[in-house]
Amino acid sequence: MAIYETEVLIIGGGIAGAAIARGLSKYKADVTLVEKGMDFGQGITKSSSTIVNQGSNVIKFRPEYHNSRLVWAGRPLMEPLCRELQVPYQKIGSLTLFKNQAGMRHPKKMLQKFEEWSGKYMPQAEPLQLIDRETLHSWEPNINKEFIGAVYDPNIAVIDPVRLTIALAENARQNGILTMLETEVLDIWHQADRFAVETNKGTINCRYIINAAGEYVVKIAQKVNADDFALYPVKSYMAVLDQKVGNLVNHMVTMEEHGTINPTVYGNLFFGTSPGSQRLGKIHDHATDKKIADAAFEHARQLVPAISERDIINSWVGFIMYRNFEVGWHECSVGVSRWLPRFINASIGFPGICAAPAAAREMIGLLAREGLKLEQNPDFQPFRKAPPVFNELSDDEKRELMAKDQRYGHIVCRCETVTEGEIVAAIKNGARSLDGVKFRCRPGMGRCHGGFCGPKIIKILARELGISEEEVTKKGGQSRYLLHKSKELLEVE
Ligand SMILES: Cc1cc2nc3c(=O)[nH]c(=O)nc-3n(C[C@H](O)[C@H](O)[C@H](O)COP(=O)(O)OP(=O)(O)OC[C@H]3O[C@@H](n4cnc5c(N)ncnc54)[C@H](O)[C@@H]3O)c2cc1C
Repeated sequence: MAIYETEVLIIGGGIAGAAIARGLSKYKADVTLVEKGMDFGQGITKSSSTIVNQGSNVIKFRPEYHNSRLVWAGRPLMEPLCRELQVPYQKIGSLTLFKNQAGMRHPKKMLQKFEEWSGKYMPQAEPLQLIDRETLHSWEPNINKEFIGAVYDPNIAVIDPVRLTIALAENARQNGILTMLETEVLDIWHQADRFAVETNKGTINCRYIINAAGEYVVKIAQKVNADDFALYPVKSYMAVLDQKVGNLVNHMVTMEEHGTINPTVYGNLFFGTSPGSQRLGKIHDHATDKKIADAAFEHARQLVPAISERDIINSWVGFIMYRNFEVGWHECSVGVSRWLPRFINASIGFPGICAAPAAAREMIGLLAREGLKLEQNPDFQPFRKAPPVFNELSDDEKRELMAKDQRYGHIVCRCETVTEGEIVAAIKNGARSLDGVKFRCRPGMGRCHGGFCGPKIIKILARELGISEEEVTKKGGQSRYLLHKSKELLEVE
């Protein structure tokens, strides 16, 4: 087995690990990022409802929570980051709804908290507004007519967390960080001032470990007795609706006990579990169940009665890592283990997508305090050129692209209008599986979910990677689509 040497090892290529890797690439540091999956962002990050929160909205924030402070610090960093990496960022605003004076309790608290916190903790936050019934229903004609007003929060935005994670990892690599996919950490030993990390690809010797393993963060910390914290995985359900009903709401709409419906950057709507119906789960058990799905759907219908089950095109569960399930607060565990120097846990909590950029910044300080010498990288290049998205181009730009490369004139995914040119570009940029292609340029994200375009993408992947069609997988490992050639099993040897 191979032996690798690195100064800093980051375990986990979700948004936390990728943001930290990119943050460290601003310095002359010897850093390796390992991810057990075939691609980046396929853990909790993939499950997220994609919202960049502001703080005094749906979630119970408190200045004493580390996660709240990271989210406050992270939100203003998100838009510039998305611009540098050429990934979508869209301000949608949110509406926290109420039906009567009694239902005003939560919105009133929100306004109060905003007043109290905006100057102190929320840089560049635009003020919230109380809006009346007429304004509300003119902005959102499809919401339940029983709502008589809302708190409008103009700060709320949506992003594509997986595309951002892939872009962060790509940019980190471009700036000198070594990234290793399909590399699973199996065990860790601590010897004097070094760690020896056993992976399926060999042993990695390092001085610092950043444990950003998402739902497995406690398991990784336990391997070397650095688990000075406990986390409770709370199962949360999400569903996505067909683009054809994408105009049912224009803002993120929410009511304290009725979950959330939000537009995505691609014109679909997401809805998800209300806080009241979340349940403690077992990590690794990603099965959706009818009870949690029904509760989420009923709650979504309370907000927008026209939502129909027929418009759900996919659903999934993900884990929100709570620090204390009993009292319902979500916190994070970002910091050096109190039990083991140079071992830093980076579980960013909920909401974690918006906490990630600030957690990455904080990591620099933590590593420096633990003795890592960090000199600025004079060659750091913050910008990443994203491949073209055919559907978002003007007619002239489309014509120009097709003239340069005919494959941009061949539509492979009709639901999302994705061309062969984009799929080939995704593979050139690192996609190795159907999911790798899907999360980079969206074929298979539409109504048919790859039923029509899947076989064509398998052929393109096989051709571009120089492998057989049977070797193409959904997401690595044994997730093969084609087990045998037609009638192959009948052939006599
Ligand atoms: C349903 C749902 C909705 C959410 N909505 C929002 C939202 O709207 N806004 C928001 O800000 N946050 C939201 N969150 C929270 C947010 O998604 C998470 O905080 C964030 O994605 C966590 O990222 P991570 O990098 O810590 O974990 P992950 O994305 O899970 O990354 C960890 C990575 O570590 C890898 N790994 C694990 N074990 C090993 C090993 N042994 N060796 C190598 N690699 C390993 C995994 O494969 C994984 O890719 C939501 C969460 C859920 C579940």
